[in-house]
Amino acid sequence: MTPALPGLFLSHGAPTLPLDRSHPTHTFLKGLGTTLPRPRAILMVSAHWDTRIPTLTAAPRPETIHDFYGFPEELYVLRYPALGSAELVSETAGLLQASRLEVAEDPERGLDHGAWVPLMLMYPQADIPVAQLSLQTAAGAAHHWKLGEALAPLRANGVLVIGSGGATHNLREFFRPVAGQDESYVSKFTAWLEDALVRGDKEGLVDYRRRAPDARRAHPTEEHFFPLLVAAGAGGKAARIHTALSGASLAMDAYRFSA
Ligand code: ZN
Repeated sequence: MTPALPGLFLSHGAPTLPLDRSHPTHTFLKGLGTTLPRPRAILMVSAHWDTRIPTLTAAPRPETIHDFYGFPEELYVLRYPALGSAELVSETAGLLQASRLEVAEDPERGLDHGAWVPLMLMYPQADIPVAQLSLQTAAGAAHHWKLGEALAPLRANGVLVIGSGGATHNLREFFRPVAGQDESYVSKFTAWLEDALVRGDKEGLVDYRRRAPDARRAHPTEEHFFPLLVAAGAGGKAARIHTALSGASLAMDAYRFSA
C-alpha cells in the first residue's frame, strides 16, 4: 500500500544553497523530507529545463548537471547520485498522453540544479528514484496548470511531485542591488500569491501576469513561476510552509499541497 503524498513547491534560490548552512531555507529543506511520508519515487519539475514538448529524463542514472557559471569550485564537485525510474517515466508519460498532452523521453538528460539542490538537502541519501519533467515556457501559464492536473494521480500513488522555481525571481536586482531601492514589491507579490493559492484561485493564478501586483518585476521571465502552477495544478489545499529571502529580492517561499 503506497501512501498518498502531498505536493510541493520549493524556491531553490542560488546554486550555493547546499553550502550556505546558515540560510534559513537550507535548514528548512534539511528538515522537510522527514515531515513527509516516504515517497516511492520523486517527479521534479524545475525552472531550468525548457523544451518544446513535455520531456522526461529517461536515464537509468541521471547525471548531476552543473548548469551555472562563476560559483565556488566546491559546488562543481557535488553529485546527486539518485537512480532514475523507468516505471515513473512510463506512468507519467501515460498520464500526459491520457490528458492529450504530447510527451517525449530524453535518455541523456540529467538533473539540473533546480532539481538536485533541494533534493540534496531533503534526501541526502539519494536513495529515492528521481525523474525530471521539463517546462514549455512558450506554451504559457494555463498549459502548466494542465500539466499539473495530469500528474495528480501520481501523488495518490506514492510519488512526490515537486515544482522547483522561485516565489520571486528578479536576478538583475539580486546580483546588482541598488542601495536604497524599494523592494516592497517582493512582499506585495508574495502576499498576493499566498492568498490566491490558499483560495485555490486557478483563474487568478493562471492570469497572474495581469492580476498580481508587480508580476513583471517579480518574474521578468516566467520559468521560475511555472513550476508553481504545475504543483498547484496537481491539486490539494495549499499552505505556505516556509518564507525567507535571499538578498533583498529573491523570495524563497515554499508551499505544501495537501494529499
Ligand atoms: Zn533557478
